[in-house]
Amino acid sequence: MSDKAKKSRNTKIDDAEKPEPNAKEYIAPIKTFPHAPKKKPEWFCQDVPCEIINKNETETKIRAFNKSRNFTLPNYLIETKFKHLESDTDSVHTPVYPNGKIPLEEFKVIPICIAKIIKEFKDDPIFVKALKKVEQDAHTAKGNNSCITIPGWYNYNKNPNPSKLERVGDPICNRNTRHAPPIPSSFTRKEFEESPSFPAPLGIRMQDFALPSEQNEIKKELLTQIFNCVNAPECPDKIKEEFELTITPNSHMCNWCGTLVDISELNQEYCSKEHSINLCHRDPVIGTKKGNVYFGHCSCNREQGGYSELQRVEQIIRLAKNNPDSGYSEMIISSLK
Ligand SMILES: [Zn+2]
Repeated sequence: MSDKAKKSRNTKIDDAEKPEPNAKEYIAPIKTFPHAPKKKPEWFCQDVPCEIINKNETETKIRAFNKSRNFTLPNYLIETKFKHLESDTDSVHTPVYPNGKIPLEEFKVIPICIAKIIKEFKDDPIFVKALKKVEQDAHTAKGNNSCITIPGWYNYNKNPNPSKLERVGDPICNRNTRHAPPIPSSFTRKEFEESPSFPAPLGIRMQDFALPSEQNEIKKELLTQIFNCVNAPECPDKIKEEFELTITPNSHMCNWCGTLVDISELNQEYCSKEHSINLCHRDPVIGTKKGNVYFGHCSCNREQGGYSELQRVEQIIRLAKNNPDSGYSEMIISSLK
């Protein structure tokens, strides 16, 4: 073998031993802590994977999975407040997410930019309101006033022996993205108080959880609905193409009453008018998931109450079965013919 060939073979072996060029390193906070020395502080939640973007001798730039911007932290913070996370070719492992891992593809998902669509319709305040509702509902988890504030957390750390009667903090954050760690409803107060992060929050309600790819699917679904409403503006072709929307004007109906929904009735503040519209959930427990959320009438949503559609149907069946002399069963059967 020539020297050149030997060299080439050795190079190949060396390359094979090197990690994949796109192999990333992931770390996670050991416990929740607030960070952002110069700007508005934000929680870094326990066990949320952070991708290391780059590092030098003094600082490390990271991207936390549930944040849309990167943070540069001094290395001493990385060394003392974070731990290494295992990952494989398609996921990063963390105990706080469903199935104990997050697909790496989810780090690369680019959120559908509703702000760009809002610009197109800036002269139509009702439609802008509908678009903002899409953004809010698809991307942000519900708030929680019981969550400790960041100044409150600093005070608690200065004086960590509050009265036993005083309930400090809550595991659910006050506003976070839908891809923050989901906290099951079975998670107890005792478990929270024993958590290393206590009294700082740990994540969001389980029913609010949606991975970034799912959030985009929800956005597409809701965008299609509002463009399909009566009195909606025409959807520009570039928006249809970019977000792969199939629009059928004047076709979107309220699930509960089966009539067309008029976007000009949107009344975000109070749902005060009879036909005002808002986001409705087919099953309120499941919350905002693809196929479970739609623009419908406030009055219809009130009629459904806190029950799912399925529960309502089961209640009617029970009522008909338990009252055989009422004629309800016959009424249901004949009306469905
Ligand atoms: Zn309705």
